[in-house]
Amino acid sequence: MTIQTGRTEELISLTERSTAHNYHPLPVVITEGEGAWVRDVEGRRYLDCLAAYSAVNFGHRHPDIVDAVRTQLDRVTLTSRAFHHDLLGPFAQELGELAGKELVLPMNTGAEAVETAIKVARKWGYEVKGVPEDRATILVADGNFHGRTVSIVSFSTDPVARTHFGPFTPGFTVVPYGDPTALADAIDHTTVAVLIEPIQGEAGVVVPPAGYLSQVRQLCDARELLFIADEIQSGLGRTGATFACEHEDVVPDLYLLGKALGGGVVPVSAVVGDSSVLGVIHPGEHGSTFGGNPLACAAGRAVVAMLRTGEWQRRATELGEHLLSRLRPLVGAGLLAVRGRGLWAGIDIDPALMTGRQASEALLAEGVLAKDTHGSTIRLAPPLVVTPEEIDLAVGALSRVLANAR
Ligand SMILES: *Cc1c(COP(=O)(O)O)cnc(C)c1O
Repeated sequence: MTIQTGRTEELISLTERSTAHNYHPLPVVITEGEGAWVRDVEGRRYLDCLAAYSAVNFGHRHPDIVDAVRTQLDRVTLTSRAFHHDLLGPFAQELGELAGKELVLPMNTGAEAVETAIKVARKWGYEVKGVPEDRATILVADGNFHGRTVSIVSFSTDPVARTHFGPFTPGFTVVPYGDPTALADAIDHTTVAVLIEPIQGEAGVVVPPAGYLSQVRQLCDARELLFIADEIQSGLGRTGATFACEHEDVVPDLYLLGKALGGGVVPVSAVVGDSSVLGVIHPGEHGSTFGGNPLACAAGRAVVAMLRTGEWQRRATELGEHLLSRLRPLVGAGLLAVRGRGLWAGIDIDPALMTGRQASEALLAEGVLAKDTHGSTIRLAPPLVVTPEEIDLAVGALSRVLANAR
């Protein structure tokens, strides 16, 4: 759709010749970003409505985050956990306080936080709950996305994520998302935890029925299970709250955080919980060379400081209402459905008009970056620094794209 000049074509072709084809990027080559905007190698500007899957919640190169990281670059960047450094304690304390939990286990990527939680839940199951050795099961939801490791794709319900990657890790039971009865029926004496996204991101911003999260919490309490909330995409301001679980006043046993925790600068993830759960892990049993490194802690502390004021959460709520109010009139005019929470929307394009990929390419030509999740569903997640006028610009582009296809 976009007119590609030599430079764009050259760089795309170089990338395609030189990297494994595990992604199918849109045909734009970004070279700069600031706030909600990026610039490509041709000098064209685009409004970023994906924000690196919410990893760039605070906008590209937010000055507070960049300053914190730049300052740290001049001190020390990596020590490993063989030694203490002066930022891990403060970061963990501040993040724990934000989450209302006692302990933080720092890792790097989201998938590592999920893997960590699986290990913690199993160990807790054997040592605290008394589940028979090597029998622990974790309940997960269909349509889930928790990452790409072998164990995580073992309980994916997406055939593309799984096919030819077996043999799979046992110990997971998939139940329908949003259905507390099915969840209750799946619990047995081997169950140690329920692992869910409070809102399913990759599935297309799927908000569960009201009351679901609190019913999960009640079931976990009644049956002595850990409630593990994967807030890697939903957390840290995106939905108008620090954690999406807050919308139902639910406090999980473990929060899984990632993406925006690194401020869009470095990969930072964490498992956050109380010592009654995270305390099962002892030296040597789990770790990561880069987990909790000084640079990561500097970025993470800046992010936590920003979230402490509540300002970003309020902004996401207000901008989200604005976004949804602008999107809703498009239902019946090219969109089949719109849903969301905070500044996070899933839109289903009428598949008779075009695929999500085609819509994303057409939006690109209009100067808006968005990406299909699957089929004809697109997720809109602009950085929280976006303005109402910029949201109008994005929705205007979308309505033109839909009108042109009709
Ligand atoms: C992105 C994501 C992950 C995986 O994070 P990576 O950093 O890509 O490993 C896990 N869970 C959810 C809900 C995510 O959105």
